[in-house]
Amino acid sequence: MPPYMTRRPLSEDEKKKMPKITPAFLKRVLSYLSPYKGRLVIVLLSIIISSVLGVIPSMLTGRMIDEGLISRDFKTLVSLILLSLLILIVSNLITAVETYVNNYVAMHISYDMKNQMYAHLQKMPHSFFTSNSQGDIITRMTSDIGGVQTVITGTMTNIFTNVCTVLITVIALFQKNWFLALCGCVLIPLLTVPTMIVGKKRWKLASKTQKKADEMNTVLNESLSVSGMQLTKIYTREKEQYSKYKSINKQITRLSIKERMVGMWFWRVMGVLTGMGPLVIYLLGGVIMILMGDNGLSVGDVTVMVTLISRLYRPVDRLFNIQIDVVRSMALFERIFEYYDMPVGIESPKNPKRLEKPEGRVEFSNVRFSYVDQKEVLKGISFTLTPGKTVALVGPSGEGKSTIAALVPRFYDVSEGKVTFDGIDVRELELESLRSAVATVTQESYLFNDTVRQNLLFAKPDATDEQLICACKDANIHDFIMTLPDGYDTVVGNRGFKLSGGEKQRISLARAILSSPALLILDEATSSLDSISESAIQQALVPILKNRTSLVIAHRLSTIMNADEILVIENGSICQRGTHKQLLEQGGLYKKLYETQFNFN
Ligand code: ADP
Repeated sequence: MPPYMTRRPLSEDEKKKMPKITPAFLKRVLSYLSPYKGRLVIVLLSIIISSVLGVIPSMLTGRMIDEGLISRDFKTLVSLILLSLLILIVSNLITAVETYVNNYVAMHISYDMKNQMYAHLQKMPHSFFTSNSQGDIITRMTSDIGGVQTVITGTMTNIFTNVCTVLITVIALFQKNWFLALCGCVLIPLLTVPTMIVGKKRWKLASKTQKKADEMNTVLNESLSVSGMQLTKIYTREKEQYSKYKSINKQITRLSIKERMVGMWFWRVMGVLTGMGPLVIYLLGGVIMILMGDNGLSVGDVTVMVTLISRLYRPVDRLFNIQIDVVRSMALFERIFEYYDMPVGIESPKNPKRLEKPEGRVEFSNVRFSYVDQKEVLKGISFTLTPGKTVALVGPSGEGKSTIAALVPRFYDVSEGKVTFDGIDVRELELESLRSAVATVTQESYLFNDTVRQNLLFAKPDATDEQLICACKDANIHDFIMTLPDGYDTVVGNRGFKLSGGEKQRISLARAILSSPALLILDEATSSLDSISESAIQQALVPILKNRTSLVIAHRLSTIMNADEILVIENGSICQRGTHKQLLEQGGLYKKLYETQFNFN
């Protein structure tokens, strides 16, 4: 950035959300720096030393003029030149060290914060991920924490460097001639004032142009899309669309010209002002030396003062704008801390019980549950699932079946009543012990962008090939995997081989079986399965469910006709229960569902 270029001023939004910088907040920010105290001291020392070394060549210039050129002493001139060169080299070497250490510290702080954020996110409740967009979460991880690096290598270092440069230069100036120094020190801040005024105006215009450009993009995206174009043609609105586009285009062109013109005058005014600085010093120097006949001030001294004063422009300008940087940096930390401070989700209790040999006996006793206040999703659910048996949940969608399944591995906690696993309230169990006893196959079978093998091993990293194949055979997917280009080593997912919904679901099923859970929870996918996939899953399910403790949410009643107990869920309550045969005899909702499917099929 050129020396007298101002920062983008704080927007209204930024001003409104100005972070409260309390001592506790600062202490918290500093706590991330404290592991790198030693290195930070090196950085600060390097900055001080290079600031001191930075003014020496300018001072030596004065001596080169007085003792070398004016006195016509070539030897002194050369030795002063060599000394300046040496200082220049040393100062740059020190800056190199500072840059390295500074970047090291910044990267490591950001590394620590990213790890802390990831670990924290892992503890967030399920509702956090359903209510926050993935983009938002990733932005916190990447741009916000990534921005911390810039705060440390940029803002913090800049403040210190600029303060050091200003202090040392001012001391050097006063040492030469207090009157000229005083004039210089008054002049410099005055010269930076117009930059701020013009800078602000320019940014205002720039943000107006940006807004218009966004508007134009929307118009382009809408009108040039396939459907947009078709709609325009259907209603013959070409002329109107064209004038709409033309009008925005015109406004942008006008604004851009205005912005550039402000920019142009800005630079010209600054050119004059910065050029004026040295002229004023020469003039005052002349007054002192010629008109007042003061012999204490030499030609070299005036030259040194001019150089030193020019060195002040950039740091003074930066320091004037530093508040903007500080506010932005603190806002960054505030956003990060806001995430860190979000209460974590469900965790293991203080003195947890462990499941030594999980059997999978599940009991719901009068369970009530709501995701949000005032809207009860489960209204008193009671049932028992005994080991080796299958309980099926059926009913219209949105009535609470998946919610019931989510309460077993404690993705949520009941509002009233209790859920026990092998006779122990799930809230008293160690979370890892509970969750590793339960495997859930959800409707959206998620596979990582990795090989089939790695996706399967996610459930049981130490599984042998035989176990892998056996699970896949059980899930009726082994033969299909063998037809893939690289068999079990085929990469699936985004960048790999595309699998159909049914194939993905069978792989998820195999993954669940592989972990040999005491309880298998199956949320059967209904949507978008073609009849071949569906029958492949049906074939897989019957033997899998036999003699396995399982809780099955079934949309296809054919899956669960053999279930030991079927619970019909309606409006958060169990409205019917029994075997398939009993329920058909009873009539009611189950019979209706059955007949609908039968007819539908
Ligand atoms: P089913 O499995 O029977 O289709 P669910 O258990 O998924 O039904 O949903 C029951 C009710 O709870 C629905 O009204 C649904 O909108 C609501 N619900 C489900 N998940 C959430 C959530 N994470 N936050 C708020 N409400 C939810």
